[in-house]
Amino acid sequence: MAQIGSDIRRLLRRDAGRLVAYPAPQPLEDFARAVGVDPRDVLKLDQNENPYGCSPGVIEALRTYNWYHVYPDPLHRVLRERLSLYAGAPAEQIVVGNGSDELIELILHLFVEPGDRVISAGPTFGYYATAALAVGADYHVVERGPRFEIEPERIVAAVNDRTKVCFVASPNNPTGNATPVEVIRRLLALDIVVVVDEAYFEFCGRTALDLLEAGPENLIVLRTFSKWAGLAGLRLGYGVFPASLVPVALSLKPPYSVSQAAEVAGLASLNDLVYLQSNLERILTERRRLQDGLAATGYLKPYPSDANFLLCDLVGKAAAQVQTALAARAILVRRYNSPRLENSLRISVGRPEQTDRLLTALQEIF
Ligand code: PMP
Repeated sequence: MAQIGSDIRRLLRRDAGRLVAYPAPQPLEDFARAVGVDPRDVLKLDQNENPYGCSPGVIEALRTYNWYHVYPDPLHRVLRERLSLYAGAPAEQIVVGNGSDELIELILHLFVEPGDRVISAGPTFGYYATAALAVGADYHVVERGPRFEIEPERIVAAVNDRTKVCFVASPNNPTGNATPVEVIRRLLALDIVVVVDEAYFEFCGRTALDLLEAGPENLIVLRTFSKWAGLAGLRLGYGVFPASLVPVALSLKPPYSVSQAAEVAGLASLNDLVYLQSNLERILTERRRLQDGLAATGYLKPYPSDANFLLCDLVGKAAAQVQTALAARAILVRRYNSPRLENSLRISVGRPEQTDRLLTALQEIF
């Protein structure tokens, strides 16, 4: 037994001090209490969630499903067949995960040993750093170009003989731009695994899965139900892997990491594509209006977006000050302290009445 008073942290892995936790937002209820409103009156535009929620078919399917006491199918055969039709990729190549976050982690476990290099093009999704450091990777962020485009030659220059994986979020979070398929093709020519993270695919329709026919051995495409299907809280993602990798991937993945509730909800979403598509169209229409409204404030400069959010630079005002002023009006937006984003805000696209409320607040502030 460890001696009382001895510090258990001495048993931690040596690189524990280098690990970076993914930032946890304040719970909605706490935030609502702090600003003195009902949680239902908080305008949550900080995490790119779907403002229309999930399909009503999901609520009904979860309510009537009667086998929660039984373990899910660890191979998720039914769901993978349905995903195969939806995504247009063979079911044998599909792996489902507890959100695409789990698949990001799984890919790193598959390829990376301590000291191996993992590349991304930043600014980008913060969980790549958390997950790469968790496996002891040499995580290397290549800077994007002036419009946040990927400059492939910079990635080529960053690849060394220990490089295993490159993550490309397309559309990218938080910058909103998708990466052209020609750039992905160029990266695929490198002797590394290229992970195209299409968490926001449904908002732009451009996909690296179009490259699948050419049979690249090093392409993995990730998707999620969190955004377009409104299932962020249920945690369901999937990846299209090279067929040869699927057995190894499954041997590294906890068998029951995807709950039966997530599977039921995923299937019900795929049964209600017309409904979900109409909400996607509403979001895209609203994105245009939000973009114009933000630009009209005179102090926000939104970048073009292929996703369900807009990254804005602030002109003549401090992002922190605007974020705080919005928070006082129970409106949440996302701010960063990473390079190039020190004075930017990311704002998710909401419903029309939510856009109105946000734009009114932005006018009142100044
Ligand atoms: N990739 C990107 C680019 C994202 O923005 C997010 C969510 N913010 C994820 C992956 C993770 O999605 P999930 O909810 O499926 O874990």
